[in-house]
Amino acid sequence: MNQWPSWLPLRQNLQELSAYGAPQLPADAVMNTNENPYPPSAALAKSIADRISEVALTLNRYPDRDALVLRGKLADFINGLSRTKFGSANVWAANGSNEIIQSLFMAFGGGTALGFMPSYSMHPLIAKVTQVQWLNGNRREDFTLDIDSAIEQIQRDKPTLTFITTPNNPTGSAVTIEEIEKIAKSTSGLLIVDEAYGEFSDEISAVTLIEKYPHVVVIRTMSKAFAFAGVRLGYLVADPAVVDAMFLVRLPYHLSALTQAAGEVALDFKDELLGTVAQLRTDRDRVAAQLSQMGLSVIPSASNFLLFSGFEMPSAQLWQAMLDRGVLIRDVGLLGYLRVTIGNEAENTKFISTLSLCLGE
Ligand SMILES: *Cc1c(COP(=O)(O)O)cnc(C)c1O
Repeated sequence: MNQWPSWLPLRQNLQELSAYGAPQLPADAVMNTNENPYPPSAALAKSIADRISEVALTLNRYPDRDALVLRGKLADFINGLSRTKFGSANVWAANGSNEIIQSLFMAFGGGTALGFMPSYSMHPLIAKVTQVQWLNGNRREDFTLDIDSAIEQIQRDKPTLTFITTPNNPTGSAVTIEEIEKIAKSTSGLLIVDEAYGEFSDEISAVTLIEKYPHVVVIRTMSKAFAFAGVRLGYLVADPAVVDAMFLVRLPYHLSALTQAAGEVALDFKDELLGTVAQLRTDRDRVAAQLSQMGLSVIPSASNFLLFSGFEMPSAQLWQAMLDRGVLIRDVGLLGYLRVTIGNEAENTKFISTLSLCLGE
C-alpha cells in the first residue's frame, strides 16, 4: 500500500488503491493483454496516414463532438454482423470501452452494481473510482455462470447495473443468448453485456435483444479481435435513451479528430482487420490441446486467451520464470491459474516450449 503524504487531500476510498495495469515489459513474446498479435497491413497504415494528414489541416478546430460519422459506421458494422437495424442514435463511442464503462457508472451509478466474479477486474475498479457500490456475485466452482443463481442474486440485491461479460475475462467461457435473455427478463435497472471478445465466439450477440429489452446495453471494443488497441476506441450499442444519457456525462470533444478518422478508416478495412479471427481461434484450440497434453487443465475458451491450471509452483513464481525466459503472460490474481493470450505462430511455439522448460519436462 502506498503511503500518501498527509497534505494530499486524496479521497478516502482511493487511499487503499494502487495503480492498476498489466505490466508493460519488454519480452520476446508479449501474451498478457489479449491484443491481436497481427499488425495492420501497409495498405491500411497508408490509408490511415493519408486520412490523418487531411484531418491534420483542420486540427485548429474541435472535432465533431457527437462523432456522428463514426457512430453511423459502427452501427453499420454491427448491423452487418448481427442483421440488426441500428443507426447512429443507438451507438456511443469513446476512448476504449473502459471509458464507456466509466460513463455508464457516472450516468447510472445511483444504486449498486453487481458482477459475477472472477470477471473483468476493471468493472469493480471503475465502480470504486466513480463512487458506486460494487457487489461481488458468484459463479460455479469451475467459473461458469449458473443462470438461476445469477437471477437469484439479481433479485436479492436489485442492482441498478448488472454486468455479464461474455466471453468472460479472465476465464474465456461464454454464455448463450438464451441465458442472457433469461437474465434480461428478470433484471430491472440496466443489464450491461460486455462483449469485448464477442467476435471470437459462436454465440449470437446480445445486441439482438435490445429491441425487445431496451434495458440491455452491449459494450464492444476495437482493441481485441479488431486489432486496433493502440487507437483506443470502444463503443456501446443500446436504446437511444441510454445514448442520450451519455451526452450528459461525456466530456466535451472527448474523442479526438485523429481517433475518429482512424476509426472510420479501420471500419472500411474491417474484413482485413477481422481476417485473423479464424486463425486465432484455430491456434487457440491447438494451444489448448498442447496444454492438456502437458497434463494441465484448460478452461474451454470462446475468446483469444486461455486460463490454465494444474501446475504445482505458485502462479507468481511460474509467471516470473516465464518472463525470465522472454514470455510475458498474465497472473490474474487467481491462485493456481495463469492466463495466456494467443499470439502468432512463433509466440505460441515459444510459449509452449518455455512452459515445458519451466515445468521441468
Ligand atoms: C480488454 C477489455 C475491455 C476494455 O478494452 P478497451 O481497450 O478499453 O476497449 C473491456 N472489457 C473486457 C472484458 C476486456 O477484456
